[in-house]
Amino acid sequence: MNTAENLDHRTPVAELVETKGHAGSEWLARYSSSLMGVFGTPQRVLVRGAGCLVWDADGKEYLDLLGGIAVNALGHANPFVTSVISSQLATLGHVSNFFTSPTQIALAEKLLALTGAPDGSKVFFTNSGTEANEAAFKLARRNTGGSGTKRTRIIALEGAFHGRTMGALALTAKEAYRTPFEPLPGGVVHIPFGDVEALKDAIDETVAAVFLEPIQGEAGVRPLPPGYLQAARELTARVGALLILDEVQTGIGRTGKWLASEDSGIRPDAVTLAKGLGGGFPIGALVTFGDATSSLLAAGQHGTTFGGNPVATAAALATLHAIESQDVLANVARVGEHLRSALAAIPGVTEVRGEGLLIGFDLEADVAPAVVQAGLDAGFIVNSPGPRTIRLAPPLVLTTAQADTFLDAFPAILQAAKDAQ
Ligand SMILES: *Cc1c(COP(=O)(O)O)cnc(C)c1O
Repeated sequence: MNTAENLDHRTPVAELVETKGHAGSEWLARYSSSLMGVFGTPQRVLVRGAGCLVWDADGKEYLDLLGGIAVNALGHANPFVTSVISSQLATLGHVSNFFTSPTQIALAEKLLALTGAPDGSKVFFTNSGTEANEAAFKLARRNTGGSGTKRTRIIALEGAFHGRTMGALALTAKEAYRTPFEPLPGGVVHIPFGDVEALKDAIDETVAAVFLEPIQGEAGVRPLPPGYLQAARELTARVGALLILDEVQTGIGRTGKWLASEDSGIRPDAVTLAKGLGGGFPIGALVTFGDATSSLLAAGQHGTTFGGNPVATAAALATLHAIESQDVLANVARVGEHLRSALAAIPGVTEVRGEGLLIGFDLEADVAPAVVQAGLDAGFIVNSPGPRTIRLAPPLVLTTAQADTFLDAFPAILQAAKDAQ
């Protein structure tokens, strides 16, 4: 039943876009003559998904171990999320932020509850991760540490990825992403990753904020060393700088907890969320903790047309409900642990990092891009954030049996990748 052909002529969308009988190669030719080349050539043309599986235009099946880059928290085409989105869209789809809607308010309350936010904490909704970080950047620009004197410096880390719009790009470290677009919003400095002494040296009363990812995803799944978040909390508090955590990739159950920073025992001043929040539907959020932080952005100082619309907030409510009611966080911890310990035992794997179902592992040679290709040939979607690093960020509902099919296949995939070099 789960073939690509079944998609066609069964859904209204097939009346708009005829997919039956068109090969992937044909779509890719049309893609390259109509879409901007910023992503390179897409690896496959995908036409359908169900749970942790997807199918391409040529009918080939894949186990999706990337989950749309940590987005499809409940897998593809989750029936509950789909029905909630559909019913909200059929009731009220968009209202603008001159108005509000019950789903928007309920989701804000839910996020505050899940993050253990104190009184006075608030939420601002966006459509993406980079927009959540833009809002956080503007929040930082308003922070004077109580002094009333403007602060312009912001500290981020080497290896940081915070998004591609100009403010978030200023926070992002990678030169290849930044340089063509300079000048970027000023004042951001990047200091060595995970180095408390470097943070001590860089921080003073001119710093408005410190931006950190608890685990750097794009840098190859690199967790901050133990104690770093606590040190950053102490140092930022001492000078009146905001501690802002980018949990766009690590939040919403990805590490087996609602927030990856949960166990650190510290409370940041703000957290940004996106990727997994809508279960595949675009939505992001800036959550500010406490009155002092929440009031930094005053009426009229920020806005969005689409952000927090009824459909996106309904999708997120459905996703959070499903994660809670189906005990998904326990599954993340269990299957993640299983994958990490099994991967560590595979010859050719030199290091395994990460938490829950955000996993990075290194190979003994620079074959990671070839592993991605060999994985696709074998029916597995994985990602290579570096020349010898593979990242897995599958749906949070991945089963142990599904994980085992990948573990069983991996030695042959690695060999095929080496042979292809
Ligand atoms: C993906 C990501 C972003 C950017 O999110 P977009 O939705 O692509 O704009 C920001 N920060 C982190 C940590 C991310 O992983």
